[in-house]
Amino acid sequence: MSKSIAINAGSSSLKFQLLEMPEETVVAKGLVERIGMEDAIFTISYGEDQEYKVVEPILNHEVAVEKLLEQLVALEIIASFDEITGVGHRVVAGGELFKDSALVDDEVIKQVEELAEFAPLHNKAEAIGMKAFKKVLPDITSVAVFDTSFHTSMPKKAYLYSVPMEYYTEFKARKYGAHGTSHRFVARRAAEMLGKPLEELKIITCHLGNGASITAVDGGKSVDTSMGFSPLAGLTMGTRCGDIDASLVGFLMNKLNITDINEFVDILNHKSGLLGLSGVSSDMRDVETAAAEGNEDAQVALEIFVDRVQKYIGQYVAVMNGVDAIVFTAGIGENSKETRRDVINGLTWFGCAIDEERNNTRKEAIISPEGAKVAVLNIPTNEEVEIARDIERLRK
Ligand code: AMP
Repeated sequence: MSKSIAINAGSSSLKFQLLEMPEETVVAKGLVERIGMEDAIFTISYGEDQEYKVVEPILNHEVAVEKLLEQLVALEIIASFDEITGVGHRVVAGGELFKDSALVDDEVIKQVEELAEFAPLHNKAEAIGMKAFKKVLPDITSVAVFDTSFHTSMPKKAYLYSVPMEYYTEFKARKYGAHGTSHRFVARRAAEMLGKPLEELKIITCHLGNGASITAVDGGKSVDTSMGFSPLAGLTMGTRCGDIDASLVGFLMNKLNITDINEFVDILNHKSGLLGLSGVSSDMRDVETAAAEGNEDAQVALEIFVDRVQKYIGQYVAVMNGVDAIVFTAGIGENSKETRRDVINGLTWFGCAIDEERNNTRKEAIISPEGAKVAVLNIPTNEEVEIARDIERLRK
């Protein structure tokens, strides 16, 4: 039996999913939260609704990895460590260096650490996760899967900002995008569902979760995406502002007597978006409920969310000079039929339409009417499967 483990390490957390490959079935999944604390929370769900949950001191990522592997054996999810033949680590920033997933060695770990200037909290934690697995399971295939790789196919006109060129040549200041693993997964799946070669399709993939981004996928390649130098750009998100006029930064810092730019960027990252607009919550379900109860700020937050999605779709129709399919995915995209309907109902001029009955789903489905000019699809994303597939593909 061959099992692969997909890892998503944060600064104080480690999410994992254990998959049986090549069947792609989930054997167990879980989370270690509050790493570094005496009261870290360790959860594994497995089997038929079984759950293991314990609060205990887990002082670093290496201990988290050790405990995780030991517990998989203790719960008889695996008979021994030998069953795990691969590990895949999600990495947020791959810069221009990583155009594809890569086998992890000391050099790759060093490069991931060096790229931390593009994602300070994430890359450092991810490098620690890689080292921890190398130490405990040195002989298994270890792969780094980068959020940015899928977008390295963007042309210069899409990834350069209109600022002095030397900022790019000297500092690599450019658009990198994010959520690449998800956009790649749903674009491929859309082609399969439509029964057409990916190479012949123009697809717009809308990953609408707490973080949200839209990608123009032309012939299977990302040609533009809404997130930018960092995941702060683009759409209105749970707590992130998305695109704003850069002049607003200086203006508001003066008004608010904020002198530290990091303090203001923190507001744009953590106190803006749906949360900042609605004053209610960053969670779309809460905002929808408040809007239905008559909260006008929540109503306008929803309008803005939909408006920004529509505008990006419009842009990407122009970027690709056409569109064959629009895909919705992630928490909001997969679950909010209202959001999907409202977005598509404003794009009828492009030939988009929604079938209300087909749209009444949270599962994988084509939700446009039969024979529609533009296919609209709902596709639950699965970044872990995509990571596990990369382990299989790169296995030595
Ligand atoms: P993600 O980051 O992909 O986990 O997505 C989280 C977002 O999905 C949150 O804003 C949730 O409110 C939203 N979400 C999850 N379920 C629903 C639902 N049934 N209706 C609307 N939004 C949902």
